[in-house]
Amino acid sequence: MNDFDLVILGGGSGGYACALRGAQLGMSVALIEQDKLGGTCLHRGCIPTKALLHAGEIADSTRHASEFGVKAEFHSMDMLAVNAYKDGVVSKLHKGLQGLVKSRNINYIEGHGRLVSKNQVEVNGSIYTGKNVVLATGSYPKTLPGLEIDGKQIVTSEEAMAFDYVPKSVIVLGGGVIGCEFASVWNSFGADVTIIEGLPRLVALEDESSSKQLERAFRKRGIKFEVGIKFASAIKGSDGVTVTLENGATHTADVLLVAVGRGPVSSNIGYEEQGLTMDRGYLIVDNKCRTNIPGIWAVGDLIPTLQLAHVGFAEGILVAEEIAGLNPRPINYDGVPRVTYSEPEVASVGLTTALAKERGYDVVEVSYDLAGNGKANILKTAGSVKLVAQKNGPVLGIHMVGSRVGELLAEAQLIYNWEATADDVAPLIHAHPTLSEAMGEAHLALAGKPLHAHG
Ligand SMILES: Cc1cc2nc3c(=O)[nH]c(=O)nc-3n(C[C@H](O)[C@H](O)[C@H](O)COP(=O)(O)OP(=O)(O)OC[C@H]3O[C@@H](n4cnc5c(N)ncnc54)[C@H](O)[C@@H]3O)c2cc1C
Repeated sequence: MNDFDLVILGGGSGGYACALRGAQLGMSVALIEQDKLGGTCLHRGCIPTKALLHAGEIADSTRHASEFGVKAEFHSMDMLAVNAYKDGVVSKLHKGLQGLVKSRNINYIEGHGRLVSKNQVEVNGSIYTGKNVVLATGSYPKTLPGLEIDGKQIVTSEEAMAFDYVPKSVIVLGGGVIGCEFASVWNSFGADVTIIEGLPRLVALEDESSSKQLERAFRKRGIKFEVGIKFASAIKGSDGVTVTLENGATHTADVLLVAVGRGPVSSNIGYEEQGLTMDRGYLIVDNKCRTNIPGIWAVGDLIPTLQLAHVGFAEGILVAEEIAGLNPRPINYDGVPRVTYSEPEVASVGLTTALAKERGYDVVEVSYDLAGNGKANILKTAGSVKLVAQKNGPVLGIHMVGSRVGELLAEAQLIYNWEATADDVAPLIHAHPTLSEAMGEAHLALAGKPLHAHG
Protein backbone atom coordinates (compact mmCIF):
# COMPACT_ATOMS: atom_id res chain seq x y z
CA MET A 1 0.00 0.00 0.00
CA ASN A 2 1.61 3.17 -1.17
CA ASP A 3 -1.25 5.52 -0.26
CA PHE A 4 -0.57 8.18 2.39
CA ASP A 5 -2.16 11.25 3.88
CA LEU A 6 1.08 13.09 3.21
CA VAL A 7 3.77 12.45 0.61
CA ILE A 8 6.77 14.71 1.10
CA LEU A 9 9.48 15.12 -1.52
CA GLY A 10 12.77 16.17 0.12
CA GLY A 11 14.05 15.30 3.58
CA GLY A 12 15.74 18.60 4.52
CA SER A 13 14.64 21.05 7.22
CA GLY A 14 11.30 21.87 5.55
CA GLY A 15 10.41 18.34 4.51
CA TYR A 16 11.35 16.48 7.67
CA ALA A 17 9.73 19.07 9.96
CA CYS A 18 6.51 18.62 8.00
CA ALA A 19 6.85 14.84 8.27
CA LEU A 20 7.43 14.92 12.04
CA ARG A 21 4.50 17.27 12.72
CA GLY A 22 2.23 15.44 10.27
CA ALA A 23 2.94 12.11 11.98
CA GLN A 24 2.41 13.73 15.38
CA LEU A 25 -1.02 14.85 14.18
CA GLY A 26 -1.92 11.28 13.24
CA MET A 27 -1.29 11.36 9.49
CA SER A 28 0.33 8.55 7.53
CA VAL A 29 3.49 10.04 6.03
CA ALA A 30 5.95 9.09 3.26
CA LEU A 31 9.18 11.08 3.27
CA ILE A 32 11.27 10.77 0.11
CA GLU A 33 14.96 11.68 0.09
CA GLN A 34 17.58 11.00 -2.57
CA ASP A 35 20.60 11.84 -0.46
CA LYS A 36 20.80 12.15 3.32
CA LEU A 37 18.00 12.84 5.79
CA GLY A 38 18.57 16.35 7.17
CA GLY A 39 19.41 17.96 3.83
CA THR A 40 21.58 21.01 3.32
CA CYS A 41 21.39 22.37 6.85
CA LEU A 42 22.66 19.24 8.55
CA HIS A 43 25.15 17.99 5.97
CA ARG A 44 26.31 21.00 3.92
CA GLY A 45 25.08 24.11 5.71
CA CYS A 46 24.25 25.34 9.20
CA ILE A 47 25.83 22.61 11.30
CA PRO A 48 29.17 21.93 9.55
CA THR A 49 29.85 25.66 9.02
CA LYS A 50 29.21 26.43 12.66
CA ALA A 51 31.60 23.62 13.66
CA LEU A 52 34.26 25.21 11.42
CA LEU A 53 33.53 28.62 12.95
CA HIS A 54 33.93 27.16 16.42
CA ALA A 55 37.29 25.62 15.48
CA GLY A 56 38.25 29.07 14.16
CA GLU A 57 37.18 30.68 17.43
CA ILE A 58 39.46 28.31 19.34
CA ALA A 59 42.34 29.12 16.97
CA ASP A 60 41.80 32.85 17.57
CA SER A 61 41.49 32.35 21.33
CA THR A 62 44.80 30.47 21.29
CA ARG A 63 46.48 33.26 19.31
CA HIS A 64 45.20 35.83 21.78
CA ALA A 65 45.60 33.67 24.89
CA SER A 66 48.36 35.87 26.37
CA GLU A 67 45.95 38.85 26.46
CA PHE A 68 44.03 36.86 29.07
CA GLY A 69 47.11 35.71 30.92
CA VAL A 70 47.10 32.22 29.46
CA LYS A 71 50.33 30.79 28.09
CA ALA A 72 49.51 29.00 24.86
CA GLU A 73 50.91 29.03 21.39
CA PHE A 74 49.07 28.65 18.11
CA HIS A 75 50.94 26.34 15.74
CA SER A 76 48.64 25.51 12.85
CA MET A 77 45.30 24.01 11.91
CA ASP A 78 45.08 20.24 11.61
CA MET A 79 42.32 20.09 9.02
CA LEU A 80 41.95 16.31 9.23
CA ALA A 81 41.18 16.68 12.92
CA VAL A 82 38.92 19.70 12.31
CA ASN A 83 36.97 17.69 9.74
CA ALA A 84 36.77 14.68 12.05
CA TYR A 85 35.30 16.91 14.78
CA LYS A 86 32.88 18.56 12.34
CA ASP A 87 31.82 15.25 10.76
CA GLY A 88 31.37 13.75 14.22
CA VAL A 89 28.87 16.46 15.15
CA VAL A 90 26.99 15.99 11.87
CA SER A 91 26.98 12.22 12.16
CA LYS A 92 25.63 12.26 15.74
CA LEU A 93 22.81 14.62 14.78
CA HIS A 94 22.11 12.58 11.63
CA LYS A 95 21.73 9.38 13.67
CA GLY A 96 19.47 11.18 16.14
CA LEU A 97 17.26 12.47 13.34
CA GLN A 98 17.05 9.06 11.68
CA GLY A 99 15.95 7.59 15.00
CA LEU A 100 13.37 10.33 15.48
CA VAL A 101 11.84 9.79 12.03
CA LYS A 102 11.71 6.05 12.63
CA SER A 103 10.14 6.45 16.06
CA ARG A 104 7.28 8.50 14.56
CA ASN A 105 6.49 5.68 12.10
CA ILE A 106 7.26 7.82 9.09
CA ASN A 107 7.82 5.80 5.92
CA TYR A 108 11.27 6.90 4.84
CA ILE A 109 11.87 6.23 1.16
CA GLU A 110 15.34 6.51 -0.32
CA GLY A 111 15.63 7.57 -3.94
CA HIS A 112 15.11 10.27 -6.52
CA GLY A 113 11.49 11.37 -6.65
CA ARG A 114 9.53 12.88 -9.49
CA LEU A 115 6.09 14.46 -9.38
CA VAL A 116 4.13 12.44 -11.95
CA SER A 117 0.59 13.63 -11.28
CA LYS A 118 -1.16 16.08 -9.00
CA ASN A 119 -1.04 13.61 -6.12
CA GLN A 120 1.66 11.13 -7.02
CA VAL A 121 5.43 10.92 -6.76
CA GLU A 122 7.43 8.21 -8.50
CA VAL A 123 10.57 6.79 -6.90
CA ASN A 124 12.56 3.96 -8.50
CA GLY A 125 9.51 2.84 -10.48
CA SER A 126 7.14 2.82 -7.49
CA ILE A 127 4.29 5.29 -7.18
CA TYR A 128 3.50 6.99 -3.87
CA THR A 129 0.07 8.59 -3.69
CA GLY A 130 -0.76 11.33 -1.24
CA LYS A 131 -3.99 13.05 -0.26
CA ASN A 132 -1.56 15.94 -0.02
CA VAL A 133 1.89 16.33 -1.58
CA VAL A 134 4.50 18.61 -0.02
CA LEU A 135 7.41 19.69 -2.20
CA ALA A 136 10.57 20.45 -0.23
CA THR A 137 13.41 19.90 -2.70
CA GLY A 138 15.50 22.79 -1.39
CA SER A 139 18.22 24.73 -3.14
CA TYR A 140 21.67 24.48 -4.73
CA PRO A 141 24.63 26.89 -4.78
CA LYS A 142 24.47 29.22 -7.77
CA THR A 143 27.35 30.49 -9.86
CA LEU A 144 27.75 33.29 -12.40
CA PRO A 145 27.80 32.96 -16.19
CA GLY A 146 31.29 31.93 -17.33
CA LEU A 147 32.35 30.92 -13.84
CA GLU A 148 32.81 27.18 -13.84
CA ILE A 149 33.00 25.39 -10.49
CA ASP A 150 35.84 22.83 -10.62
CA GLY A 151 35.56 21.88 -6.96
CA LYS A 152 39.26 22.53 -6.29
CA GLN A 153 40.34 26.04 -7.23
CA ILE A 154 36.89 27.47 -7.90
CA VAL A 155 34.50 26.13 -5.33
CA THR A 156 31.12 26.62 -3.68
CA SER A 157 30.35 26.24 0.02
CA GLU A 158 29.84 22.50 -0.55
CA GLU A 159 33.50 21.84 -1.40
CA ALA A 160 34.82 24.60 0.85
CA MET A 161 33.30 22.81 3.80
CA ALA A 162 35.38 19.70 3.24
CA PHE A 163 38.82 21.19 2.48
CA ASP A 164 41.60 19.08 3.98
CA TYR A 165 44.04 22.00 3.95
CA VAL A 166 44.02 25.72 4.65
CA PRO A 167 44.59 27.68 1.44
CA LYS A 168 47.19 30.43 1.69
CA SER A 169 44.83 32.90 0.09
CA VAL A 170 41.15 32.97 -0.78
CA ILE A 171 38.87 35.28 -2.72
CA VAL A 172 35.29 35.09 -1.54
CA LEU A 173 32.86 36.21 -4.22
CA GLY A 174 29.78 37.44 -2.35
CA GLY A 175 29.65 39.29 0.96
CA GLY A 176 26.33 37.89 2.14
CA VAL A 177 25.84 35.52 5.07
CA ILE A 178 27.60 32.47 3.61
CA GLY A 179 30.48 34.54 2.15
CA CYS A 180 31.10 36.38 5.42
CA GLU A 181 30.98 33.18 7.47
CA PHE A 182 33.59 31.50 5.28
CA ALA A 183 35.72 34.67 5.21
CA SER A 184 35.65 34.60 9.00
CA VAL A 185 36.53 30.88 9.17
CA TRP A 186 39.42 31.09 6.74
CA ASN A 187 40.84 34.21 8.38
CA SER A 188 40.76 32.39 11.73
CA PHE A 189 42.43 29.38 10.11
CA GLY A 190 45.26 31.64 8.85
CA ALA A 191 44.38 32.31 5.19
CA ASP A 192 44.66 35.70 3.52
CA VAL A 193 41.04 36.56 2.66
CA THR A 194 39.53 39.09 0.24
CA ILE A 195 35.77 39.46 -0.20
CA ILE A 196 34.31 40.89 -3.40
CA GLU A 197 30.73 42.16 -3.10
CA GLY A 198 28.73 43.84 -5.87
CA LEU A 199 26.33 45.56 -3.45
CA PRO A 200 27.50 48.64 -1.58
CA ARG A 201 28.14 46.84 1.71
CA LEU A 202 28.71 43.48 3.38
CA VAL A 203 25.60 41.65 4.65
CA ALA A 204 23.55 44.14 2.64
CA LEU A 205 20.19 42.81 3.83
CA GLU A 206 21.04 43.86 7.39
CA ASP A 207 20.66 47.34 8.89
CA GLU A 208 23.31 49.67 7.49
CA SER A 209 24.78 50.22 10.96
CA SER A 210 25.40 46.47 11.35
CA SER A 211 27.22 46.30 8.00
CA LYS A 212 29.45 49.21 9.04
CA GLN A 213 30.37 47.55 12.32
CA LEU A 214 31.04 44.19 10.67
CA GLU A 215 33.21 45.89 8.06
CA ARG A 216 35.17 47.69 10.81
CA ALA A 217 35.68 44.42 12.70
CA PHE A 218 36.71 42.53 9.56
CA ARG A 219 39.20 45.28 8.68
CA LYS A 220 40.66 44.95 12.17
CA ARG A 221 40.98 41.20 11.69
CA GLY A 222 42.80 41.72 8.39
CA ILE A 223 39.94 40.50 6.19
CA LYS A 224 40.07 42.61 3.03
CA PHE A 225 36.99 43.46 1.02
CA GLU A 226 35.84 45.45 -1.96
CA VAL A 227 32.19 46.44 -2.07
CA GLY A 228 30.05 48.05 -4.76
CA ILE A 229 32.16 46.53 -7.53
CA LYS A 230 30.97 43.76 -9.80
CA PHE A 231 32.86 40.63 -10.83
CA ALA A 232 33.89 40.50 -14.52
CA SER A 233 35.87 37.27 -15.00
CA ALA A 234 38.04 34.61 -13.41
CA ILE A 235 41.00 32.86 -15.00
CA LYS A 236 42.85 29.88 -13.58
CA GLY A 237 46.65 29.96 -13.85
CA SER A 238 49.73 28.39 -12.29
CA ASP A 239 49.70 30.95 -9.45
CA GLY A 240 46.00 30.44 -8.62
CA VAL A 241 42.78 32.07 -9.72
CA THR A 242 42.84 35.66 -10.97
CA VAL A 243 39.60 37.55 -10.62
CA THR A 244 39.04 40.69 -12.67
CA LEU A 245 36.45 43.21 -11.56
CA GLU A 246 34.38 45.49 -13.78
CA ASN A 247 36.64 48.44 -12.90
CA GLY A 248 39.67 46.49 -14.20
CA ALA A 249 41.14 45.72 -10.77
CA THR A 250 42.48 42.19 -10.31
CA HIS A 251 42.94 39.86 -7.35
CA THR A 252 44.77 36.55 -7.35
CA ALA A 253 44.39 33.79 -4.78
CA ASP A 254 44.81 30.02 -4.38
CA VAL A 255 41.06 29.51 -4.16
CA LEU A 256 37.95 31.34 -5.30
CA LEU A 257 34.83 30.65 -3.25
CA VAL A 258 31.66 31.47 -5.14
CA ALA A 259 29.00 32.51 -2.62
CA VAL A 260 26.56 34.41 -4.80
CA GLY A 261 23.35 32.90 -3.51
CA ARG A 262 21.32 29.73 -3.84
CA GLY A 263 18.71 28.79 -6.41
CA PRO A 264 15.69 26.47 -6.05
CA VAL A 265 15.90 22.78 -7.01
CA SER A 266 12.82 22.64 -9.21
CA SER A 267 13.70 21.58 -12.74
CA ASN A 268 13.27 18.15 -14.35
CA ILE A 269 11.27 16.73 -11.45
CA GLY A 270 7.81 17.18 -12.93
CA TYR A 271 6.91 20.56 -11.49
CA GLU A 272 6.56 22.33 -14.86
CA GLU A 273 4.68 19.40 -16.40
CA GLN A 274 2.06 19.46 -13.64
CA GLY A 275 1.48 23.18 -14.25
CA LEU A 276 2.84 24.54 -10.97
CA THR A 277 3.26 28.31 -11.00
CA MET A 278 6.92 29.30 -10.73
CA ASP A 279 9.01 32.43 -10.83
CA ARG A 280 12.73 32.08 -11.63
CA GLY A 281 12.41 28.46 -10.56
CA TYR A 282 10.83 29.23 -7.16
CA LEU A 283 7.40 27.70 -6.53
CA ILE A 284 4.87 30.41 -5.86
CA VAL A 285 2.70 29.83 -2.80
CA ASP A 286 0.15 31.72 -0.70
CA ASN A 287 0.62 32.59 2.99
CA LYS A 288 -0.18 28.99 3.96
CA CYS A 289 2.39 27.53 1.51
CA ARG A 290 -0.32 26.35 -0.94
CA THR A 291 0.76 26.18 -4.58
CA ASN A 292 -1.68 26.97 -7.39
CA ILE A 293 -2.66 23.27 -7.50
CA PRO A 294 -4.99 22.17 -4.69
CA GLY A 295 -3.35 19.48 -2.55
CA ILE A 296 0.22 20.45 -3.53
CA TRP A 297 2.20 22.52 -1.04
CA ALA A 298 5.77 23.83 -1.08
CA VAL A 299 8.12 24.82 1.74
CA GLY A 300 11.71 25.82 2.49
CA ASP A 301 14.34 27.11 0.09
CA LEU A 302 12.14 26.06 -2.83
CA ILE A 303 9.84 29.03 -2.25
CA PRO A 304 10.94 32.68 -2.29
CA THR A 305 10.99 33.25 1.48
CA LEU A 306 14.08 33.65 3.70
CA GLN A 307 16.47 30.76 3.00
CA LEU A 308 16.91 29.66 6.59
CA ALA A 309 16.55 26.27 8.24
CA HIS A 310 14.20 27.57 10.93
CA VAL A 311 12.00 29.11 8.24
CA GLY A 312 11.87 25.68 6.58
CA PHE A 313 10.92 24.10 9.94
CA ALA A 314 8.19 26.69 10.49
CA GLU A 315 6.77 26.30 6.97
CA GLY A 316 6.80 22.49 7.25
CA ILE A 317 4.93 22.66 10.56
CA LEU A 318 2.50 25.25 9.17
CA VAL A 319 1.58 22.97 6.26
CA ALA A 320 1.07 19.89 8.44
CA GLU A 321 -1.14 21.89 10.82
CA GLU A 322 -3.13 23.49 8.01
CA ILE A 323 -3.79 20.08 6.45
CA ALA A 324 -4.86 18.78 9.87
CA GLY A 325 -7.41 21.61 10.05
CA LEU A 326 -5.73 23.50 12.92
CA ASN A 327 -5.84 26.77 10.96
CA PRO A 328 -2.38 27.99 12.10
CA ARG A 329 -1.43 31.65 11.84
CA PRO A 330 0.55 32.52 8.68
CA ILE A 331 4.24 33.21 9.29
CA ASN A 332 5.27 36.84 9.83
CA TYR A 333 8.58 36.77 7.96
CA ASP A 334 9.68 40.09 9.46
CA GLY A 335 9.66 38.34 12.82
CA VAL A 336 12.13 35.62 11.80
CA PRO A 337 15.46 35.85 13.65
CA ARG A 338 18.51 36.11 11.40
CA VAL A 339 22.17 35.51 12.27
CA THR A 340 25.46 35.75 10.41
CA TYR A 341 27.71 33.58 12.57
CA SER A 342 30.98 35.28 11.69
CA GLU A 343 33.28 36.79 14.29
CA PRO A 344 31.75 39.13 15.29
CA GLU A 345 28.21 37.85 14.84
CA VAL A 346 25.50 39.96 13.24
CA ALA A 347 21.99 39.23 14.50
CA SER A 348 18.65 40.85 13.84
CA VAL A 349 14.89 40.57 13.93
CA GLY A 350 12.22 42.91 12.59
CA LEU A 351 12.69 45.94 10.35
CA THR A 352 15.84 47.86 9.51
CA THR A 353 15.70 51.63 9.90
CA ALA A 354 15.44 52.02 6.12
CA LEU A 355 12.58 49.52 5.84
CA ALA A 356 10.68 51.01 8.79
CA LYS A 357 10.89 54.45 7.17
CA GLU A 358 9.88 53.02 3.81
CA ARG A 359 6.77 51.57 5.48
CA GLY A 360 5.87 55.02 6.76
CA TYR A 361 6.72 54.67 10.47
CA ASP A 362 7.78 57.68 12.51
CA VAL A 363 11.04 56.07 13.59
CA VAL A 364 13.18 56.55 16.69
CA GLU A 365 16.52 54.78 17.10
CA VAL A 366 18.67 53.92 20.09
CA SER A 367 22.05 52.26 19.96
CA TYR A 368 23.70 50.80 23.04
CA ASP A 369 27.44 50.39 22.60
CA LEU A 370 28.84 47.12 23.97
CA ALA A 371 31.76 49.16 25.30
CA GLY A 372 29.51 49.87 28.31
CA ASN A 373 28.74 46.19 28.92
CA GLY A 374 30.80 44.26 31.46
CA LYS A 375 30.65 40.86 29.77
CA ALA A 376 31.56 42.36 26.38
CA ASN A 377 34.66 43.84 28.01
CA ILE A 378 35.51 40.48 29.56
CA LEU A 379 35.19 38.87 26.14
CA LYS A 380 37.01 41.82 24.52
CA THR A 381 34.31 42.17 21.90
CA ALA A 382 33.00 45.34 20.27
CA GLY A 383 29.57 46.02 18.82
CA SER A 384 26.15 47.28 19.80
CA VAL A 385 22.47 46.60 20.30
CA LYS A 386 20.43 48.94 18.14
CA LEU A 387 16.68 49.39 18.50
CA VAL A 388 14.41 50.73 15.80
CA ALA A 389 11.06 51.75 17.27
CA GLN A 390 7.90 53.55 16.34
CA LYS A 391 7.72 56.88 18.14
CA ASN A 392 5.65 56.21 21.28
CA GLY A 393 4.99 52.72 19.93
CA PRO A 394 6.40 49.21 19.73
CA VAL A 395 9.93 48.10 18.92
CA LEU A 396 10.07 47.52 15.15
CA GLY A 397 13.55 46.04 14.83
CA ILE A 398 16.56 44.91 16.87
CA HIS A 399 20.03 44.81 15.29
CA MET A 400 23.09 43.49 17.06
CA VAL A 401 26.78 43.07 16.36
CA GLY A 402 29.36 41.41 18.64
CA SER A 403 30.66 38.02 19.72
CA ARG A 404 27.82 35.66 20.71
CA VAL A 405 25.04 38.21 20.09
CA GLY A 406 23.12 35.52 18.17
CA GLU A 407 22.21 34.14 21.59
CA LEU A 408 20.46 37.43 22.42
CA LEU A 409 17.96 36.88 19.62
CA ALA A 410 15.80 34.68 21.83
CA GLU A 411 14.79 37.76 23.81
CA ALA A 412 14.89 40.11 20.82
CA GLN A 413 12.39 38.03 18.88
CA LEU A 414 9.97 37.91 21.81
CA ILE A 415 10.18 41.69 22.09
CA TYR A 416 9.54 42.16 18.37
CA ASN A 417 6.92 39.47 17.91
CA TRP A 418 4.95 40.48 21.01
CA GLU A 419 5.06 44.08 19.82
CA ALA A 420 6.62 45.20 23.10
CA THR A 421 7.29 48.86 23.82
CA ALA A 422 10.33 50.27 25.63
CA ASP A 423 8.22 50.57 28.79
CA ASP A 424 7.33 46.88 28.64
CA VAL A 425 10.97 45.81 28.48
CA ALA A 426 12.75 48.45 30.59
CA PRO A 427 11.55 47.06 33.97
CA LEU A 428 12.73 43.51 33.15
CA ILE A 429 15.84 42.62 35.11
CA HIS A 430 18.78 41.19 33.16
CA ALA A 431 21.40 39.07 34.91
CA HIS A 432 24.72 40.74 35.58
CA PRO A 433 27.23 40.41 34.02
CA THR A 434 25.74 39.09 30.78
CA LEU A 435 25.61 40.38 27.24
CA SER A 436 21.83 40.39 27.63
CA GLU A 437 22.19 43.45 29.85
CA ALA A 438 22.88 45.38 26.65
CA MET A 439 19.34 44.50 25.55
CA GLY A 440 18.01 45.84 28.84
CA GLU A 441 20.15 48.98 28.65
CA ALA A 442 19.02 49.71 25.09
CA HIS A 443 15.38 49.55 26.22
CA LEU A 444 16.10 51.66 29.30
CA ALA A 445 17.58 54.26 26.96
CA LEU A 446 14.59 54.04 24.63
CA ALA A 447 12.30 54.50 27.64
CA GLY A 448 14.21 57.70 28.45
CA LYS A 449 16.06 56.39 31.51
CA PRO A 450 19.48 55.15 30.37
CA LEU A 451 21.57 53.61 33.17
CA HIS A 452 25.11 52.69 32.07
CA ALA A 453 25.22 55.12 29.15
CA HIS A 454 27.28 58.28 28.67
CA GLY A 455 25.96 61.48 27.17
C1 LIG B 1 26.87 27.06 3.87
C2 LIG B 1 25.48 27.22 4.39
C3 LIG B 1 25.28 27.63 5.69
C4 LIG B 1 24.01 27.79 6.19
N1 LIG B 1 23.85 28.18 7.49
C5 LIG B 1 22.62 28.33 7.99
C6 LIG B 1 22.43 28.69 9.35
O1 LIG B 1 23.39 28.87 10.09
N2 LIG B 1 21.18 28.85 9.82
C7 LIG B 1 20.08 28.66 9.02
O2 LIG B 1 18.96 28.81 9.49
N3 LIG B 1 20.23 28.31 7.71
C8 LIG B 1 21.46 28.14 7.19
N4 LIG B 1 21.61 27.72 5.89
C9 LIG B 1 20.39 27.55 5.06
C10 LIG B 1 19.71 26.21 5.33
O3 LIG B 1 20.64 25.18 5.17
C11 LIG B 1 18.55 26.04 4.36
O4 LIG B 1 17.69 27.15 4.46
C12 LIG B 1 17.76 24.78 4.65
O5 LIG B 1 18.57 23.65 4.57
C13 LIG B 1 16.59 24.66 3.65
O6 LIG B 1 15.86 23.52 3.93
P1 LIG B 1 15.02 22.81 2.78
O7 LIG B 1 14.33 21.66 3.43
O8 LIG B 1 14.20 23.79 2.05
O9 LIG B 1 16.08 22.29 1.71
P2 LIG B 1 17.31 21.30 1.83
O10 LIG B 1 17.86 21.28 3.19
O11 LIG B 1 18.22 21.66 0.71
O12 LIG B 1 16.67 19.87 1.60
C14 LIG B 1 16.15 19.48 0.39
C15 LIG B 1 16.32 17.99 0.29
O13 LIG B 1 15.61 17.51 -0.84
C16 LIG B 1 16.33 16.48 -1.44
N5 LIG B 1 15.88 16.37 -2.82
C17 LIG B 1 15.95 17.33 -3.79
N6 LIG B 1 15.40 16.88 -4.93
C18 LIG B 1 14.97 15.61 -4.67
C19 LIG B 1 14.31 14.64 -5.45
N7 LIG B 1 13.97 14.86 -6.72
N8 LIG B 1 14.04 13.44 -4.88
C20 LIG B 1 14.38 13.18 -3.57
N9 LIG B 1 14.98 14.09 -2.81
C21 LIG B 1 15.27 15.29 -3.34
C22 LIG B 1 17.77 16.90 -1.30
O14 LIG B 1 18.65 15.82 -1.38
C23 LIG B 1 17.76 17.57 0.06
O15 LIG B 1 18.17 16.68 1.08
C24 LIG B 1 22.88 27.52 5.37
C25 LIG B 1 23.07 27.09 4.05
C26 LIG B 1 24.35 26.93 3.57
C27 LIG B 1 24.54 26.44 2.18
